This record gives sequence, C-alpha cells and structure tokens, in this order.
Amino acid sequence: MDHFHYKKGELFAEEVSLNDVAKEYGTPSYVYSKATLERHAKAYIDSFDLMDGLVCFSVKALSNITILKTLKNAGCGFDIVSGGELHRAIVAGADPRKIIFSGVGKSKAEMEAGINNDILSFNIESGPELDRLANVAEGLNKIAPVAIRFNPNVDAGAHEFTKTGRKSDKFGVSVESAKILIKKCSESDNLKLVGLTCHIGSQIMELQGFQDAAKQALDLLIELDKLNVVLDFIDMGGGLGVNYIGEDTVQPFQLIKSYEEIFSGRKERLILEPGRSISANAGIMLTRVEYKKDNFLIADAAMNDLLRPALYQAHHDVWPVMKTDNPKEKLNIVGPICETGDFLAKDINIVASQNDLLAVKTVGAYGFVMSSNYNSRPRAAEILVDKDKHALIRKREDYAELIALEDKEDD
Ligand SMILES: *Cc1c(COP(=O)(O)O)cnc(C)c1O
Repeated sequence: MDHFHYKKGELFAEEVSLNDVAKEYGTPSYVYSKATLERHAKAYIDSFDLMDGLVCFSVKALSNITILKTLKNAGCGFDIVSGGELHRAIVAGADPRKIIFSGVGKSKAEMEAGINNDILSFNIESGPELDRLANVAEGLNKIAPVAIRFNPNVDAGAHEFTKTGRKSDKFGVSVESAKILIKKCSESDNLKLVGLTCHIGSQIMELQGFQDAAKQALDLLIELDKLNVVLDFIDMGGGLGVNYIGEDTVQPFQLIKSYEEIFSGRKERLILEPGRSISANAGIMLTRVEYKKDNFLIADAAMNDLLRPALYQAHHDVWPVMKTDNPKEKLNIVGPICETGDFLAKDINIVASQNDLLAVKTVGAYGFVMSSNYNSRPRAAEILVDKDKHALIRKREDYAELIALEDKEDD
C-alpha cells in the first residue's frame, strides 16, 4: 500500500502533483512519500504482541538522513553495515542502543566507532571477526556486545545475488561454529553475548524460509538454555519481499505472528531488520523522455541513477505522470549511458512520447543508495513529500561537486 495515485489523470505523491515536483527540482529525481514510510514502519511496530519487539530499519536500503529521522521518529532503530552508515544514523539522532552493526568485514576503526558509540550489538559472522572485536574492545578497556550470526542453510531469496542463508553463501557461521563462538564469548573479559541472529536473504515471498530459520534458532536457544547462556534478543534479520509486478506478498503481521508462535514462551526480545519492505514502495523516480526512437524511449535517468534493472534484471513498473487514452505501445526505456545494459525497463506497455514525464515505481529501496557518477553524471535530487508539502532532502549534485575531491592544480 503506497500513497502514489492518479487524480484526474495526473500522478500525485500524497497531495503533491509530480508535475509540480519536476518543475521545481528537475529530473531525474527520487520522490519519497512520508506517509508510506510511516505506514510501513507502523505495520511492523504495531504487530508485536507476545514478544517485546524492536524494528531496526536496514540503512543500506535507503540512507538519506531525513528519511532516517522520519523512521527514528516512527520508533525504528537501525541495522547498519559500515562506519559510514553508523555516522549517518548518529547524525540523524538515532538512539545508539537501537543500533545493530551487521556485515562480514568490519574494520578495526568501524569496531572502535561502534564501541565508543555504545551500540546495542555487533552481529558477528566469523571467528577471526570475533577475535578482532575482543582485541579492539580490550584496547579501549570496554566490553563489546555480541550477537552471533548463524547460517541456517535455507535457500530463500528472489535472485541468486540476494540469497544469503545457504551454506555456500559468505554470511554467518554454521550452527556448530556458532556454539564455539558462543563459548569464546564467555571466556573473554571484553565480550558480552547478547543475542543470536540470522538473515536469510532478500525479496522473499513466502513464510516457509523464515519459519525454517526460526525453528533452527529455537533449537539453538534450547541448547543454550542447558548451558545457562541467557540472551537478550533473537534477531531474525530482514528480507520480506515487496510487490514489484503485482506479486502476492507476506505481510509484516503474518511474519511476526509466525515468529511469536515459534518462539512462544521465550523471554528474549525479537529484533527484525527490514529494509525493502519499509522503503521500496515509498519511493518513485521521476525521469523525462529525451527522445523516442523506434521502440526505445531514451530517458534522462540511467543505470547510474537506478542500477537494479541492470544488476539484477529487476522489473520496475513505469507510469506516465499524465495519463492519456492513446493506445499503449510495447517499449524499452533506456538511459543515456554508453552501455547496452543501461535500461530502466524492457518491453513495458505504456503511452509515452518525447518530453513526457515518467515515474519509475518501487525504487525507495536499493535505488538512490546504489547510484554512482558513472559517465560523470551528477547524482539525482531526493525529495520528501509530506501531505501537501514537499522538501528537497538531498540537492542534485553539480559539476563542481562532481570533481571536488580531485587534484586540479597545474603541474
Ligand atoms: C540487507 C540486509 C537487511 C535488509 O534486507 P531487506 O531485504 O531489505 O529487508 C537486513 N539485515 C541484514 C544483515 C542485511 O544485510
């Protein structure tokens, strides 16, 4: 459910005309709906019933500071995967006690920053990583909170690149290794075991994989009970899929109800790390048609602005901002970049001609965050709509900013 809809044939974000947005800020631009973001966060937060819950939005899905503030105010904590994301979360005013640090390759500096900010947990993915964390914490004379990421060996996820929970993927450790790492925590003066975590993939359309992973987590919790190991939380990660082409999706309340059944009677709190299912439907990308040539619409947005179609062969619906009754044509929407892989949509049924404004849908997750300057294209603007108001939350890059970090001195 989102807040992008037609009024008298013109596409609106909440109560703001997208023609007006394009006039004011230009194209290509990302436009987000605040009501949609808040609605999706609430769909998670309000669904906890039996278990105490915490929703840590996955910052890598959409990391604009104003968006993070919005989600923080809606009650979210954050799941981060880098020092840069930690910095963003702190600047957005996040409560560090609601920050989870995930990812397989944390550097010493990133660990130090996390410890010094007193974050809730480091989700640890290997033995060497745990050893490094213990060393870094010892150097700071502090105790680092740890959750062990176990790999439940379930095969879920829409695309080969978004599966993370199989034995062959680089994430987490086996249940056997998890037990060894848990023992290591108890032997260290500088580590405190606080949780167990897993994350099985992204764009997952069925409950089954989540349930399989939760049952394995439960088995492990029961084994830990016998060793008198007490944990604060079980963190089941993110991964819930969204509707890109009219697919049926699992709703957050169904997921949470299912977890609460599996973990029934447990004292740990339940942490979730949704990204896509909170922000994907809350964003569109506005782009203008520069030219029409045969069955190609050449848009002013390209793969540097939205990488998902080129990287994952992802499908995004594209809607004309002004609806007409002219017959639809089957067209490919491509960008100006010098790569055959530079497309936004293939074989899409649409009515559009030169200078028309288009909205590429469902780009609020893994959209702007994956953009680059390839072909020396300045990054797009980001705009947040709140009812009948709109605000620029990241200005369009200009040419000076494009070269700002480079040496321009004469020899
Ligand atoms: C990417 C990621 C998420 C978010 O996944 P979504 O599919 O966007 O919900 C959550 N946790 C971890 C560890 C991740 O890497």
